[in-house]
Amino acid sequence: MTAQRDIDPARLPELVDALPGIEALRGLTDGVPAYLVGGAVRDLLIGAEGVDLDIVVEGDADVLAGLPGFTPERDSLFLTGKLALGNSEVDVAQARAESYPQPGALPEVQPASIAEDLARRDFTINAMAVPLGPGGELLDPHDGVEDLRTGLLRVLHDRSFIDDPTRALRAARYAARFGFELEPDTRRLLEETDLSSVSEDRIQNELRRTAAERDPARALQLILHWGVMPSLDPGAPGRVAEVTRLAEVAPWSGWVDRELAVMLAIARPLPQVRDLAAATPERPSEAVRLASPWDPAQLLVARALGAEWLDRYAAEWRHVRLEITGEDLIAAGIPQGPAIGHGLEAALSGKLDGELSGREEELRIALAAARGEIPED
Ligand code: ATP
Repeated sequence: MTAQRDIDPARLPELVDALPGIEALRGLTDGVPAYLVGGAVRDLLIGAEGVDLDIVVEGDADVLAGLPGFTPERDSLFLTGKLALGNSEVDVAQARAESYPQPGALPEVQPASIAEDLARRDFTINAMAVPLGPGGELLDPHDGVEDLRTGLLRVLHDRSFIDDPTRALRAARYAARFGFELEPDTRRLLEETDLSSVSEDRIQNELRRTAAERDPARALQLILHWGVMPSLDPGAPGRVAEVTRLAEVAPWSGWVDRELAVMLAIARPLPQVRDLAAATPERPSEAVRLASPWDPAQLLVARALGAEWLDRYAAEWRHVRLEITGEDLIAAGIPQGPAIGHGLEAALSGKLDGELSGREEELRIALAAARGEIPED
């Protein structure tokens, strides 16, 4: 059992008062029953940094539309939108109840009270609200504070994972992020979860959010361990752990799109990427020929699979450029066409492999290759 966390709801009013933009937000929602909800309340209570404001207002459709600076979400069925707040925006939604026509399908929604809105949520720790007005006290009808203290993820009712199986993936994300455990009944319900009714799109969305976590490999381990996603490759957590480790350090950090690389590492690697990972190029020019067609994120997956030579490609070889250009070959009498490319490639290979240096030598080799005097590889 994890140790009790120090969670003090009495400090909430003061924490809410200290949120950036809160005064402006109170001005915009003046006279409307508005609440800070969900992850925002959870994060304030656990003292997380950079809390994202998430607002719910009670009332009919006119209440949202009447907020100054409100823009409805395009094509949204969910009574939600954005509220302009200085240079930023906050998410705001009308309090709503949800019903699920079929398991895994998107819910049907209708305006409702804040209590009903909290009752449609995924876990107790995400089902709390604080009135936005000064001095507002915590609404915690599902005992989220207690579960935050003991580090438990608990669904609000027995049909939760049946209604929306993506909650099993969300559970892995929160469990990994906060080091929480599943409450035993929740665990039993989760292990019966069947993701097959959920569209691939929605699954990919959840995985993308998992990929953006600090430790996505941990979340994937849990998904495997809980057995909720049969299509997940058992090699995924290992690859992802290696990819996230490498993405933090030179030469990959700042070059590679970490989230994309994690997404690629979650999937079973393409046979071509496995081939790349198994390749043992003997010369830098060969390494460049193998690696240059690939996106850095795919290269990082190959690196995570063992291709250490890709570190040098990423750090050095990919930056090597010739001093000459095609113009120089044209000026020396080579007609425009594929010969120019052959010439430049030969010179670049020579430079990469340390066989030539300087403009003169580049030009000599490029011209010889362009004229067919050097056999192509
Ligand atoms: P994060 O910190 O990862 O952004 P969050 O808790 O803010 O997490 P969001 O996905 O932004 O999560 O959703 C906001 C809130 O909406 C959640 O805290 C939860 O109360 C509710 N919610 C989101 N997705 C679901 C879902 N699939 N089922 C039930 N409630 C949900």
